[in-house]
Amino acid sequence: MSFDSLGLTDALLKAVADQGYSTPTPIQLKAIPVILEGKDILAGAQTGTGKTAGFSLPLLQRLAKDFDPKTRPRKVRALILVPTRELASQVFDSIQTYGKYLPLTAQVIVGGVSINVQTRLLRQGCDIVVATPGRLTDHLFQKHVNLSDVETLILDEADRMLDMGFLPDIRRIMTYLPKKRQTLLFSATMPGDIKALADSILNNPVQVEIAKQNATADTVSELIYGISKENKRELLSYLIGSNNWQQVLVFVRTKHGADRLEKQLIKDGVRAASLHGDKTQAARTKALELFKSGKVTALVATDIAARGLDIEELPHVINFDLPQVAEDYIHRIGRTGRAGLKGAAISLVCTEDAYLLGAIEKLLKRQIPRVNDTGYEPISLRSIDASKKSATANKTSTQGKKDFRHHNKKKPGAKNESPTHSRDDKPKQRSPTKR
Ligand code: AMP
Repeated sequence: MSFDSLGLTDALLKAVADQGYSTPTPIQLKAIPVILEGKDILAGAQTGTGKTAGFSLPLLQRLAKDFDPKTRPRKVRALILVPTRELASQVFDSIQTYGKYLPLTAQVIVGGVSINVQTRLLRQGCDIVVATPGRLTDHLFQKHVNLSDVETLILDEADRMLDMGFLPDIRRIMTYLPKKRQTLLFSATMPGDIKALADSILNNPVQVEIAKQNATADTVSELIYGISKENKRELLSYLIGSNNWQQVLVFVRTKHGADRLEKQLIKDGVRAASLHGDKTQAARTKALELFKSGKVTALVATDIAARGLDIEELPHVINFDLPQVAEDYIHRIGRTGRAGLKGAAISLVCTEDAYLLGAIEKLLKRQIPRVNDTGYEPISLRSIDASKKSATANKTSTQGKKDFRHHNKKKPGAKNESPTHSRDDKPKQRSPTKR
């Protein structure tokens, strides 16, 4: 089926064609006609499914239909709430891209940048606001923005927003919106609190279910390296250097850990940057740009980068620390293997974290393959492997540590398990993030 059959106008079809998209993704096929009809949606869709275009295209079409150029300043007619600043700017870019042949305007409202500049922009008016809930609430309290003309509200990555403690802000924002509106809720998972939110803000929604819950993409090959905490950094530098990896997204648990690993990698000769919630917005944007443009090889990030980030053709994700919450494993490794390309996800797991691996494998309902010979002294992942016959993780390992930096002949990992072929934020937060 082609985009032509979805009822989109020429201006949008042309923008889609400019992007080189020939076929709508499943979420686009299901969501676009429903949104065009003005109905509410409750969509279970993960990132990488094309959901941004899935809601942006029909939204733009509906807004363009009743566009009145004489309205000055422009009134906010659509509000898109997202969990992170990075996702906000990504959604904003998509709106610009798909709406390039339309006269509509959009603004990004996120924390970490001057509130005064945003206030000025909001006063000038715009049709669409893409915002993180915290900063938008600040603007609402100070009456910088009027949301009483909003026709469509979109909650993107709703489960992540709730994880980050944004529910009170979302509830507050709701009180500024008209009751009669279209509401679209997108969430990768559907836990009870999301269902409760959906019940209270959606009106007779059409349910759209796309990706299997708790599933990883087939395009991502996964490996576990059982390795002691002390040796992780050296192994990481070795893997990057010896395989000549050019773009590696490395997840760590804490902001401090991200800064520390960034410095250590730089010392090892790896071009590295870090991304976490304590950085200024300018520093976060710069780190991401350097990484996307290939000027930096390793981006060390907290789970702030686990959701939504779209890094074109990212080949490698490394879990330097496993996530505290098993679902975040799926989101993290979903940064690679996108749009049908292949990707590799490697997790460095120390004995202390074996219980986290156990929780992840329980969620996935399968065991992730182990690298038999890590080149380091075998460690025990016993708490999860003990009961499994197939757990021969460290059986063939050589004793004692090898010096990887002078060890060029043999790469860690058996040949058939090597991740090198592939090319085709923080523990889960329950408190509000920085605004
Ligand atoms: P999203 O899930 O919205 O983050 O989108 C994931 C990626 O898929 C983005 O890089 C989009 O540009 C891309 N994309 C969206 N729709 C299509 C499509 N119909 N065909 C090919 N790529 C698409």
